[in-house]
Amino acid sequence: MGEFDLIYRYFDRTTTQPTVQQGVELAIGDDCAVTKLAPNQRLAISTDTLVCDTHFLPNIAPADLAYKSVAVNLSDLAAMGATPAWISLALTLPEVNHQWLTEFSQSLFAILDRYNVALIGGDTTKGHLSLTLTAQGILPAEQGLFRHQAKEGDWIFVSGTLGDSAGGLALLLNQVENLTESDRLLIARHLRPTPRVELGIALRAFSQCAIDISDGLLADLGHILKRSHCGAEIDLANLPLSSHLLARYSHIEAEQLALTGGEDYELCFTIAPNKRSDFEKFLRSQGIKATCIGRIVSAEQGLTLRRQGQIVPPPTNIGFDHFQTSK
Ligand code: ADP
Ligand code: MG
Repeated sequence: MGEFDLIYRYFDRTTTQPTVQQGVELAIGDDCAVTKLAPNQRLAISTDTLVCDTHFLPNIAPADLAYKSVAVNLSDLAAMGATPAWISLALTLPEVNHQWLTEFSQSLFAILDRYNVALIGGDTTKGHLSLTLTAQGILPAEQGLFRHQAKEGDWIFVSGTLGDSAGGLALLLNQVENLTESDRLLIARHLRPTPRVELGIALRAFSQCAIDISDGLLADLGHILKRSHCGAEIDLANLPLSSHLLARYSHIEAEQLALTGGEDYELCFTIAPNKRSDFEKFLRSQGIKATCIGRIVSAEQGLTLRRQGQIVPPPTNIGFDHFQTSK
């Protein structure tokens, strides 16, 4: 099977679903895709590469791989408050395996449909398994969530619970046997993270600053602090830890996973003091979980972690960095 047959068979839905998503004038099949925006709209664009052995284990199920590569891309859009619209996929495959491609493409379209995203193009090449996705989302002209917009006095919130993905990954890496129901849920959080797309869109009304937690809370909050020229105080007692994490790990281990474990894909964001009560009302009305974990302070104050009022030294190893060798 040639490259074009492969693309047509697994990735081109333009003939079976000619009425694709809004804004797509031309999708797969020409030299470029063509899309259009309304005059008051802006594009938010993000690219992510996933490489075998670096980002996923070689034995990953193709359905999980497709899901996760889209989810992490959409998570970046969520962190900007953008509404996902279009995605392109550059896929490098060691061989043409029809079973693999069938499972991969079905799962890919399942998550794309869930978030109403159109696959508008890509590239298909031979080599070591890797994927590069570029997602495009729409931002209203005057709104958006930016790392540089935290202000002294803002409250710091995180969505969901933290540390589950890293807790699940550790179980996979250590090939733990006799997994409990909680263990399976941790592993599911690692394999199938939920991009907080709806929350990101809703946050446009309450916040101007967010990041998605891909490298661990402290590392990612650190990016906000650096770009916003601020410090932060975090109350460890408020870290949202799931019952599943606490069923498998001690409290201190769970806290460490929450602070430094990556790939939760929750959002960390700031809420100005005058917006907090409206925001909390909104959370209750929608049944969305987000927790206030601290406050933005001046840059001079740096980052302070407290447990029951006592200052705790931050962990030394605060996040995943591909090029860091000293750990
Ligand atoms: P070109 O040679 O002009 O770059 P290609 O032959 O790479 O075009 O691709 C042909 C068409 O198929 C293009 O519209 C491209 O966007 C699309 N395409 C290629 N690979 C993929 C893929 N994995 N998923 C979706 N679309 C793809
Ligand atoms: Mg090409």
